[in-house]
Amino acid sequence: MPAHLPQLDSFGEVVRWVIEELGALCPAADRLRAYAARPDDPSLRDVRYHVQEAGCRRCRDELEALGHPQR
Ligand SMILES: [Zn+2]
Repeated sequence: MPAHLPQLDSFGEVVRWVIEELGALCPAADRLRAYAARPDDPSLRDVRYHVQEAGCRRCRDELEALGHPQR
């Protein structure tokens, strides 16, 4: 981890920053598929957050490939 973190105003920005800096937050492929099948499943809330709020490009592309385009 870098010694100095940027000023981040919201958890969403933190997540975005982590994704950009570390690229390590993506859910496993099977969880992403589970989310595609059951987007409202509460146990997949973190995946929904990752895709919808953090807007991870890689996972959105992955979901579109699965036939679940994200707005
Ligand atoms: Zn991702």
